[in-house]
Amino acid sequence: MTMKHWIAWLLIILAALGGSAVQAADGGVHQAKAVKVTTLSTMLSDLDGLGEWGYAALVEVDGKRILFDTGANPDIVLRNAEALKIDLSNVEDVVISHFHGDHTGGLITLRKAMMAKNPAALSQVYVGAGIFEPRFTRTGAPETDYDFNTVAAAYRATGGKITELSGPAEIAPGAWLTGPVARIHNETNYGDGIRVKVDGKLIADPVHDDTSLVIATAGGAVIVAGCGHAGIMNIADAAGAITGDSRLLAVIGGIHLFASPDRVLVETAARLKGLSFLLAAHCTGIEATVRLRELLGLDRRTAVVAAVGSSFTLGQGIAAGRIAGWVG
Ligand SMILES: [Zn+2]
Ligand SMILES: [Zn+2]
Repeated sequence: MTMKHWIAWLLIILAALGGSAVQAADGGVHQAKAVKVTTLSTMLSDLDGLGEWGYAALVEVDGKRILFDTGANPDIVLRNAEALKIDLSNVEDVVISHFHGDHTGGLITLRKAMMAKNPAALSQVYVGAGIFEPRFTRTGAPETDYDFNTVAAAYRATGGKITELSGPAEIAPGAWLTGPVARIHNETNYGDGIRVKVDGKLIADPVHDDTSLVIATAGGAVIVAGCGHAGIMNIADAAGAITGDSRLLAVIGGIHLFASPDRVLVETAARLKGLSFLLAAHCTGIEATVRLRELLGLDRRTAVVAAVGSSFTLGQGIAAGRIAGWVG
């Protein structure tokens, strides 16, 4: 074990001892009994929905429904939810994993469409601290295409509330948001097209606001990631610190490995060893998913390229949808 790993484990143990997790009646972290995550936006789509470069999922935890990200185009999640006969008007909480437009694009359309049926629908947004940080283009001009300030102003104008998290928070029993994740492993799962200023210098934006959802279950953590810019190894460490349990049951969503060299996939698989399910959407990449399947000893039922409508259910596994080649 390297020094870096020792430090990571020390941080995990300290976080667990520090009692950041809410204790259940039996002294442990509350464990969710019923979990379902349904893909509402990703690149592949069968049924009557539409694919796009983006991500969104409906997360259901013991009856609590949470919209995780909102896709890229203003209306695609709305149309996909209709095609899947999923009613979002009784969902109040939304997680925006980070500021990139392929995760925020549907927020305003969805809020307006659903509040017409229920004023409380999609009325609470959770984000990670840093989401409002000024961003720049490569030449130093303000980045205007992906400006969360603009999205936030339009959202607040509808009466919606935004809560910025600087650390882990339990938003429903057993369902935690990581908040910004400590970058212990040297993962660079982000592009260099958008910059931030550090000491007056423009550097590639590491997307400090990147936040994932961690659900504690009796079988280990279920992680839902939007783009995984914090790095899935770092997110896995954060999940262990939150739940006090190093076991990983499922990783769902985008983990930004589509352009990663094989050595990164090998290193990632080593950290995710023991993972039972991978429902890999969006920026995970098809080739990376197939390679991770092989490295993790999973198969076509347990490591699947997500399509719109595909889902993971605790106790049942992955329902892939027709396009992923296996109907459960
Ligand atoms: Zn992103
Ligand atoms: Zn993305």
